[in-house]
Amino acid sequence: MRRQRSAKIVATLGPASNTPPQIAALFTAGVDVFRLNFSHGERDEHAVRIAAIRALEHKVERPIGIMADLQGPKLRLGKFGQGKVALKPGQRFRLDLDKEAGNATRAPLPHPEIFAVLDRGTEILLNDGRVRLQVEKHGSNFAETIVVSGTELSDRKGVNIPGAVLPLSAITAKDRSDLAFALDHGADWIALSFVQGPDDVAEAKKLVAGRAGVLVKLEKPSAVQRLGEIVDLADAVMVARGDLGVEMPPEDVPPLQKEIVHTCRQAGKPVVVATQMLESMVTAPVPTRAEASDVATAIYEGADAVMLSAETAAGAYPVEAVAMMDRIVRRVQADPLYGVGLHTEMLTAPEHTSPDAISAAARQVADTVGAAAIVSYTNSGATALRAARERPGVPTIALTARIETARRLALVWGLHCVHTSDVHRFNDMIQKATRIARQEGFAEQGQRVVITAGIPFGTPGATNVLHIAWVHD
Ligand code: PGA
Ligand code: MN
Repeated sequence: MRRQRSAKIVATLGPASNTPPQIAALFTAGVDVFRLNFSHGERDEHAVRIAAIRALEHKVERPIGIMADLQGPKLRLGKFGQGKVALKPGQRFRLDLDKEAGNATRAPLPHPEIFAVLDRGTEILLNDGRVRLQVEKHGSNFAETIVVSGTELSDRKGVNIPGAVLPLSAITAKDRSDLAFALDHGADWIALSFVQGPDDVAEAKKLVAGRAGVLVKLEKPSAVQRLGEIVDLADAVMVARGDLGVEMPPEDVPPLQKEIVHTCRQAGKPVVVATQMLESMVTAPVPTRAEASDVATAIYEGADAVMLSAETAAGAYPVEAVAMMDRIVRRVQADPLYGVGLHTEMLTAPEHTSPDAISAAARQVADTVGAAAIVSYTNSGATALRAARERPGVPTIALTARIETARRLALVWGLHCVHTSDVHRFNDMIQKATRIARQEGFAEQGQRVVITAGIPFGTPGATNVLHIAWVHD
């Protein structure tokens, strides 16, 4: 089974996509990486989803990535008695530490830190800024507010207070235990929410200790200010436009998206563009023209992956949303201007290392001889990342003996990952590469593939061989 596109699709699982048949349908429609949102749902629900994904992986014989998205120091409302309530601008609304379910005039806000920093007049934004409250009166465990704008609130909606600095650690107690759970259950990526600076990333990397990739969600102005350092430390990055667009004016988000994608591509770090990509498909079977254009823009910019959130987690058309995203991505890739733009908008000069020299040469050689694919042997995945950074004009098959690597690389632009045993001899290397290229549907008899590998075999980081091979029957 092969996909017909280079950029990848990440889809969030939730109530609309919980059952094994629903997850299988999403995969068939195009999902490469499933995201589990630890801000919602119980642990055992996540465990059931992970088991379903791994069973599916076994059945379809394709590595599938799992991203565990930690809540981070994200502030959220508690729950309402009826799930949601209607609000009227001008009305009073109380927030407090009381655990009792909320109603149309009050809601639980289980964060004592917030009440400690409020002032009269402080703005509290709820549900991605859709509801705006202004503090009238506050104490150590409550705030009386006036609804400035907004008409509806529901369970566990996000809370942003752009005007206050909150004394919160990057990885909360809940995150630590969710992280341990996610690693125990074999998550491939750990997504960090509300990173404020490089120290947060360093701390997370120490905790994860290489057992998964660390993906940094950029959703705070303070993180964007230190983009370069964060990208250096991170294994991947997400343009988390939801919270970014609440914490900053919406018009700042598109140029930031471009800058973040650009910085990540230079560094060879996978970058995901996320949030509201096909938002209207939560309730409609087709997207708006603006949404189709937004997905296309991310692809033209060269993002590794685009992501669906509520569309697949809670929407009425989860499979349609994935299928639509798949169609938009493929359509952009069929545009001759796509390849031109990928390489003219940005020059990714190779760094002075053997893997980069080989990866750059592989792209050129594949072009020159009209090869059907590049086949890249990789152990940790580092070489495959450098190969993808070149954004070659032909698909890259990443061969790895480590299933963890194959799963993690499912997020990366242009990589079709195959889990296979190690090779020990030069001839085996060629035969395996050409056989798999043919079996996986990337090359036919009489075509050529460009193979990259490291000799001695099995030495990580030793990519130093480029070989052109014919595909035989
Ligand atoms: P979230 O993160 O969906 O966990 O809030 C993404 C975003 O803020 O865009
Ligand atoms: Mn967010």
